[in-house]
Amino acid sequence: MKNCIFCKIISGDLPSSKVFEDETCVAFKDIHPQAPFHVLIVPREHFDSLDKAEEKHKETLGHLLLTAAEIARREGFSQKGYRVVINTNADGGQTVFHLHVHLLAGRIFVFPPG
Ligand code: 5GP
Ligand code: ZN
Repeated sequence: MKNCIFCKIISGDLPSSKVFEDETCVAFKDIHPQAPFHVLIVPREHFDSLDKAEEKHKETLGHLLLTAAEIARREGFSQKGYRVVINTNADGGQTVFHLHVHLLAGRIFVFPPG
């Protein structure tokens, strides 16, 4: 999608610090990390938000969560724990409108979040 920052990162038009990629998604370090480890897991297919997800995205959505768990495992955070977040639309704090999963780890998280 034109003018989408994450589509540009996926295509390589913008640089990023990639930690994982496969045929469905790309994971890269967040530019303003909110934890010692903070990556964004982004589907190659552009859709704006969880609110715009459809039945056809079911497999992709599941894949993003399994990828988050796999990266957390690989980075050694499984046992201590981590936080997975999908901000959705304005009240949810979404600022980039290409659906993405935040994986945060390396500190203690409180609930409910702010
Ligand atoms: P949201 O607020 O939409 O849930 O999350 C968007 C995230 O993307 C934010 O945490 C923000 O720091 C990150 N971000 C915004 N622009 C860029 C960028 O150009 N590169 C990277 N790596 N992260 C970005
Ligand atoms: Zn996009």
